[in-house]
Amino acid sequence: MKLRTLDSLGDLSGKKVLVRCDLNVPLAGRDITDDGRIRASLPTIVRLREQGARVIVLSHLGRPEGAPDERFSLAPAAHRLAELLGTDVPLASDTVGPSAHATVAAMSDGDVAVLENVRFSPAETSKDDDARASFAAAIAELGDVFVSDGFGVVHRKQASVYELARALPSAAGLLIETELRVLEKLTATPERPYTVVLGGSKVSDKLGVISHLLPRVDTILIGGGMLYTFLAAQGHAVGASLLEKDQIETCRDYLRQASELGVDIILPPDIVVAASFSADAEHVVVSADSIEETPFGASGLGLDIGPEAAELFATKIRESKTVFWNGPAGVFEMPAFANGTRRIASALADMSGFSVVGGGDSAAAVRTLGFADSDFGHIATGGGASLEFLEGKTLPGLEALGWQ
Ligand code: ADP
Ligand code: MG
Repeated sequence: MKLRTLDSLGDLSGKKVLVRCDLNVPLAGRDITDDGRIRASLPTIVRLREQGARVIVLSHLGRPEGAPDERFSLAPAAHRLAELLGTDVPLASDTVGPSAHATVAAMSDGDVAVLENVRFSPAETSKDDDARASFAAAIAELGDVFVSDGFGVVHRKQASVYELARALPSAAGLLIETELRVLEKLTATPERPYTVVLGGSKVSDKLGVISHLLPRVDTILIGGGMLYTFLAAQGHAVGASLLEKDQIETCRDYLRQASELGVDIILPPDIVVAASFSADAEHVVVSADSIEETPFGASGLGLDIGPEAAELFATKIRESKTVFWNGPAGVFEMPAFANGTRRIASALADMSGFSVVGGGDSAAAVRTLGFADSDFGHIATGGGASLEFLEGKTLPGLEALGWQ
């Protein structure tokens, strides 16, 4: 791997090591609903402790508006981290202020502490390069070296990801190494047939990856919110379903390119159409070309792929040797519209080849639907970062670690 790894930092015993993790876990109040990202950050933290380092953890949580906000405190994450490590993990009440300095000063070798949410400072995500650089310099005063391990944010040019990596001797942590090894396997030598399953709701964000994937894969299965723009590109009416009108032409182009390249872009033959966007909405299954021919007419919404589509997708997945899946097939948060997502997850769990689930909501979906992490080859902690990597983009947070 062409990137600086932990070994490049030399002997870390007694050193103050700033570690950028991604502890951005989903919360219900103060309860963590999926601690996957905290677990994923453990290998690096444990390794650094074993080396006798003083481990100072940085992270963001949610999108506070550049000011301290109790709802986005890292307190629940620090508490969970302490439970998982079986040791005390104090939380500083600021990121670079007096509390942070006092917390670090009180640390002994092998200790772990967390600094409060980096996004409580507007400089973290500022568009102004100087503002980010001076915030990074203030963070850098707290440590001797920097380890970047927040894979979910490496595609962001943010102070604690990009500028901090340039302000101190820096290297990638074990999570970033693991994630990259998996993604490189997907881009370099995936075993064929290689199938990509796409869904979710960030339609325009995700369409870009298709043009990069088309020359590299055998099959693309389209579900979730993005499928309605494809159905519209085929000339079908989609009722009130999620639709990005300005992307219809792009989708038409992808369908054309796919047939030229001999790649199968498979759209669901049937759809679950609901009367409204709610968990108890009346709903029916119709063929994909008849979305407006339900009792709900043009106000019907496609909220899941139908049972025939789910079976078709499952068959295609089981026939594959490599599968990358990003984006739920339906509004899985509502049980009535979770079947497509559940069926895809179980097909991935059953297949004998290499399966990767990427994306915050996709990972949360498989876990809340009762699947175990070990059912899959790999669950990526960052959806946006994974997709941008697969698109062949330069990720600032990796570039700063010597990635080429
Ligand atoms: P990820 O975080 O895995 O990258 P996204 O953030 O793109 O995925 O999308 C996840 C969201 O997509 C879920 O909250 C889900 O409810 C929503 N979704 C899936 N299918 C549909 C649909 N047909 N209409 C509206 N939203 C959908
Ligand atoms: Mg998401």
